[in-house]
Formats: sequence, C-alpha cells, structure tokens
Amino acid sequence: MKDVVIVGGGPAGLLLSHCLREHGIGYQTLERGKIGQAWRDMRPGMELLSPSVPGTDWTSLILSQPLWALPGARRPFPTREDFLCYVEAFARDNQLFVEERTPAVKARVEPGRFSVTTGEGAEIPCRFLVIATGASSVPHYPEIPGIAGNPWILHSADFVNCMAYDRKRVLVIGGGNSAAELCTELAGTGLVTLCTRNPLRYFSETGDLEDIRGSSESVLKELIRFRIISVREADAVVAIADRTVRFMSGAEETYDWIVCATGYRPRWMPVEGGAIETSEDGFPRISPVGESTVPGLYFCGSLAKFHRRCAFIHGFRNYVEKVFWDIADRL
Ligand SMILES: Cc1cc2nc3c(=O)[nH]c(=O)nc-3n(C[C@H](O)[C@H](O)[C@H](O)COP(=O)(O)OP(=O)(O)OC[C@H]3O[C@@H](n4cnc5c(N)ncnc54)[C@H](O)[C@@H]3O)c2cc1C
Repeated sequence: MKDVVIVGGGPAGLLLSHCLREHGIGYQTLERGKIGQAWRDMRPGMELLSPSVPGTDWTSLILSQPLWALPGARRPFPTREDFLCYVEAFARDNQLFVEERTPAVKARVEPGRFSVTTGEGAEIPCRFLVIATGASSVPHYPEIPGIAGNPWILHSADFVNCMAYDRKRVLVIGGGNSAAELCTELAGTGLVTLCTRNPLRYFSETGDLEDIRGSSESVLKELIRFRIISVREADAVVAIADRTVRFMSGAEETYDWIVCATGYRPRWMPVEGGAIETSEDGFPRISPVGESTVPGLYFCGSLAKFHRRCAFIHGFRNYVEKVFWDIADRL
C-alpha cells in the first residue's frame, strides 16, 4: 500500500511529489494526460500573468530551481511553452515519477485507508489521498437566456487563435484577465467589443491581483483609446437570441461570434463513503493544513483555497508544503 496517492500531475502535484520524494516517503502520482496537462490545453503562445525574474519570482515551484534560469525563457513574463518546459525539467531533474495517461475516476473511503480507481479499473490503496486536480476544471458560462446550446457561443478555454475571426464581429463577455488577453489577441483581426458587468478594473490602479494586469493591461487601454476595441462597460448582457445580444442599457447588437471569458468552477472526482463539505463558491472546506472534512483526504494547489491568492502558483506553493508536513508528521 502506498503512503500517499496524489491525483494530478500539475504544478501542485509535482511540488508535493518533490517534497515526498526528498523525505523518502512512498507516493504515487496519477495524471490524466501528461505532466502539466492543464497548461498544454491552454492557448499556444499565451504569456503568464506572473513575472519570473531574479528577485521577483511568482512562477517557479521552488526558488532554488527557478524558471527564469532556463535558457531562452522569456522575461519578465514567461510563455506557456516556457512554463511547460520548466515543469517537464522540474520533474525530470528531481526524478519525480508521474503515471501519465492514468486518470483517477473515483476514490473510496475504507477503514484507515483509501482506494483510488483508475480509468483502466486498477485499484490503488493508500493511507493518505491528496487531490491536486486544479480549480480550472469546468468552464463557467453566465446564466443568461439564450446561451445554452447556442452554436455561436464559445468559452475562452476553447479559443485557439485568431484565424477563424478575420473581420468577424466578436463580442467578448467578461472583465478579467482572460477577457483582456482575448481582446488584445483578436484586435486587428476581428472587430472586437468587450462587454463587462462592472466598471473595468486595472491592477496598476487597484493593486488587486484579480484585476487586469500583466502585459495585456497597457495594450488593452491603448486599443480602447484608439477605438480598435469597443467597450460596453458596466452594460451586462441580459439575453441572447441566435447571434443577437441584448444589453442592460436596452441596446441590441448582432455579432458573428460571442466568447464567454467568464472563468471556471472547481470540480473533482467522486469520493464514495466520505462527505467532502464545500463552501458557497464550490471549493472544498479545508483545515489550515489542507485536510478536507474526510480525515486523511487533502486538497492542494489551486483547488485548496486557503486564501484568494491560491489561484496562482506564488499563492499556493507554501501551502503545498503545509500539506506535506502534516502528512509526514502523521506517518
Ligand atoms: C488561462 C489561465 C491562465 C493562468 N495564468 C496563470 C499565471 O500566469 N500564473 C499563475 O500562477 N497561475 C495562472 N493560472 C492558474 C494556474 O492554473 C494555476 O496557478 C496552476 O496551474 C494550478 O496548479 P494545480 O496543480 O493546482 O492545477 P492544474 O495546473 O490545473 O493541474 C491539475 C492537473 O490534474 C490533472 N487532472 C485533473 N483531473 C484528473 C484526474 N481525475 N486524474 C488524474 N489527473 C487529473 C490535470 O490534467 C492537470 O495536469 C492560469 C489559469 C488559467 C486557466
């Protein structure tokens, strides 16, 4: 029986694997795709929001092995590809063994242990179970009449590049970083309108990490100023019929495509025989060391919301260590 099974081979699962390996604790890490799969599924060429430079490193998993030291890594904001090279190198250099293409489909609570079932039907028993499957699992669409089943609507998670949008009228719904990035990427190719429920908020003005920041902030501001991007600020979409959108102001416009950059909701595999309590925002309730309401079952990474900044690597990396130390103390 393994001491620890980690579900998820993303940044958090890898960091926890590293802690366990360094201390000689037996672990097995299961990954549904390849290492860092959530980042492989993101838009090619995407820049991270987190800077990675000597002295200000928000992106590296451990500061003694920083991303910025990779030859060719873009500074100050690395790309998705840089980050993927980094997590691959991190796993390889630290000899972390991840079972790729092995989804965990469910877990069962048994007396004094857990049993994890893989996609191929294998049962893996373990003393401690850590779910590190990320908070970006389910694309979220706003509850607006006319969205469900509408073929002209897509989620920002499904946007690959501008090719399909040349001179098309594109409405981007959302006021966060994904919306800002999509608008700046599409500008000049599509005829872009950005629609927000609330006034636009920029990090340089508010200091809030959830506001528009990184390389898209200044570009977005400039494109709006040049009227290359139109904005319907604080004019929420209230209904959509086919391609025609009605706004709160009463205005109606027709678009070729409507992109919802409206975030994600957390979800994780079913756990039989244990009640994982959740908060109103859908995240699991956890103790100060990441243990859920099922004893011995922990969450870590972006799915473990110790505080708001845990959505980002620099926000959760210290908490992964807390999960590690709690498990290590109990073994
Ligand atoms: C568009 C976008 C941009 C972002 N930009 C930044 C940024 O610039 N800086 C930053 O710090 N953060 C950024 N984030 C947040 C980022 O996702 C997290 O910081 C980080 O990836 C979270 O790591 P994690 O290991 O918790 O989850 P993830 O990276 O989501 O990794 C979870 C892993 O679990 C695997 N998995 C899921 N279900 C199963 C299963 N049932 N069985 C086995 N494996 C499974 C997935 O394939 C994945 O590899 C961004 C997120 C998005 C969506």
